[in-house]
Amino acid sequence: MKYKPADKIQDLQYFGEFGGVNPSISDSSTYTFLSAKTMFDTFEGNAEGCYLYSRHSSPSNLYLGEALAAMEATESATVTASGMGAITPVLMQLCNSEDHIVSSRTIYGGTYAFMKNFLPKMNIETSFVDITKLEAVETAITSKTKILYCETVSNPLLEIANLPALADLAKKYGLKLVVDNTFSPLSITPSQLGADVVIHSLTKFINGSSDTVGGVVCASAEFIDELRNVNDGACMLLGSTMDSFRSASILKNLRTLHLRMHKHSENAMYLAKKFEGLGLRTVYPGLSTHKGHQLFKKMMNEEYGFGGMLTIDVGSLDKANTLMELMQERNLGYLAVSLGFYKTLFSAPGTSTSSEIPENEQEEMGLSDGLIRFSIGLDNHIDRTFQIMKSCMEEVEVL
Ligand SMILES: *Cc1c(COP(=O)(O)O)cnc(C)c1O
Repeated sequence: MKYKPADKIQDLQYFGEFGGVNPSISDSSTYTFLSAKTMFDTFEGNAEGCYLYSRHSSPSNLYLGEALAAMEATESATVTASGMGAITPVLMQLCNSEDHIVSSRTIYGGTYAFMKNFLPKMNIETSFVDITKLEAVETAITSKTKILYCETVSNPLLEIANLPALADLAKKYGLKLVVDNTFSPLSITPSQLGADVVIHSLTKFINGSSDTVGGVVCASAEFIDELRNVNDGACMLLGSTMDSFRSASILKNLRTLHLRMHKHSENAMYLAKKFEGLGLRTVYPGLSTHKGHQLFKKMMNEEYGFGGMLTIDVGSLDKANTLMELMQERNLGYLAVSLGFYKTLFSAPGTSTSSEIPENEQEEMGLSDGLIRFSIGLDNHIDRTFQIMKSCMEEVEVL
C-alpha cells in the first residue's frame, strides 16, 4: 500500500481559540509566563506546550509544520521564511568545516550557487554529479562526505532521482540523504523511499498562489530539534523564521493541494502528449519516452500524477523568447519564473532560474538555450489552451 499523504493532512483536526474552524493566528513575538520557573524551563526546551519567543517557535508555525510532517510521513518538520531558508541551514547543520557534499548537478540555481560559491568559505566542498548515474555518485563519495543531495524531480531538466538506490548508497557510507521535493509534493514521498531529510520550497505548488516565499524541513524529531537548538541550531541562529500570518495562510492553501496537484498533472500530461504529437522535443516524466518514466511510476503515489512541470526545446533563445512573449500576449500564462500557480508560468531557464550555472556546464548537462520550462496551470479547458498555444507555435515557426 502506497502512502496517502492527502489523507494524512485531512485527518488533522484543529480548532481556533474561540472554536473557529481554523486555528487562531498567534499575533505575538513574545509570550508571558505566570511563573519565572516555567520561563526558564521553556527556554531549556522542557516545558511542552509553552511558547517563549516567535523565532524559536509559534503556534501557527507548529500547526503548519505538523501538517507538512504528516504529508511527508516524517516525525517532525520546521517551517522557514523561504525554500533557501530551509536548504542552507540543513547543509550547515550537517556539515562541519572540511566536510564534503555529493550533489546532483541539476538542481535549483540558488542551491547550486550556495554549494559552489558560499560553502567553500567554510571549507565545505561539493562534487556535482549526474545523479542518474549511480556509479558516478558512488565514485564521488570520499571519507569526508556527509551529505548526498538531490531533487526528486530535478530543476529544470526533470531528471528523476532513484531515491531507494541513493538511500542504499547513503546507508552504505553513513551519509544523510537530503531530498528537495519541491517539484513533486504528494506524488512522491521521499521519506518512504529512504530519504533522511525532505525539503520544500513552499513558494511553489504547496502554497500555490504565488503570494509569498516559504520553506520547510521535514525529518526526524531529533534532527528538527537540532535545527532549533538555541545553542547551535542553524534554523534558530540564522533566523530565517516564517511569520505567523504567512504560515496560517499557507496552511489554508495546503488543504486544496491534492485537488490542485491532480489538475496540474492532468493538464501537464495532456499538453505533453499533444506537444510530443506535434514533433516538439518534450520532456515530461509522465511520457513513456522520458528516461525516468518507469522509475517515477515505481516511486509515485499514483493518484496525484506526474506533476505540473514540463519542458520543450524550440531550438534557440530567440524563438523561445518570441514564443513566450506571444503566449503571454494571448493570455495563456505569464512569462515568469517560479511554479505552482493557477495560471501557467513559463521561462527560459538558461537565462533565468539556472543562470547561476556557467554556460559550459549548462551545455554539458543538456540545458540548451531554446529550452522553455512550463509550470502548467489549472486551466479548466486545457484543449482550448492547447489550440491557442499551437497557433502561437505556428506563428513563431517552431513547428
Ligand atoms: C524555488 C526553489 C527553491 C528555493 O525556494 P525559495 O522559496 O525561492 O527560497 C529550492 N528548490 C527548488 C526545487 C525550487 O524550485
